Amino acid sequence: MQFKRLLQVEAVLTRQVLVLNRCWQAVNVVGVKRAFSLLVQGHADVIHQEEGDFQLYDFDQWVDSSNLLGDGGPEYLHTINHLIRLPKVIILKVFDRLPIKEVKFHRNNIYDRDKHRCQYCGNQFIENELNLDHVIPRHHGGRTSWENVVTSCIRCNSKKADRLPHEAGMRLIRKPAKPKWRPFVSVAENKEKNSSWDYFLNPLKLS
Ligand SMILES: [Zn+2]
Repeated sequence: MQFKRLLQVEAVLTRQVLVLNRCWQAVNVVGVKRAFSLLVQGHADVIHQEEGDFQLYDFDQWVDSSNLLGDGGPEYLHTINHLIRLPKVIILKVFDRLPIKEVKFHRNNIYDRDKHRCQYCGNQFIENELNLDHVIPRHHGGRTSWENVVTSCIRCNSKKADRLPHEAGMRLIRKPAKPKWRPFVSVAENKEKNSSWDYFLNPLKLS
């Protein structure tokens, strides 16, 4: 019995929790232990979705609500006095605890921002069928920046050549901009990623 309980605790502690900053942007993924430590210290609140609405709980409120609803399933941490529901998403109350990583300006991140879609014809391509295009060509004073470099397929790229889009009779499907944020890689690659994270990881898709 003791052993079984121990295994259960171990399994529970490997669960992962999505961390949002104060602007509700995903900034990290942490283990349950770290999440509880942030909650206990009052550095974070739990965000829990109930019937479509997001409710915020501080640690005490979360413990209370857990005891109220607790059936002690795998979604719970058993302590001596309490059953505590495992949070899936927490939100930081303090700034600068987990700074947002700047998105590096380089080829793959531009492809990612544009979802591997040529920004002229709108079709999706694999990486080696893509190129980067200066919307305003360099000899027109166009800069190598998030706002002026887009993903382009090789065909559109050669059609446009060294011209401005309107000179080539082409139009961008979207105005290029610097990505505002990007979840850490571990978020994107996390196998345990669960549906309660979706809202925060794909805000564009859902808004
Ligand atoms: Zn194209």
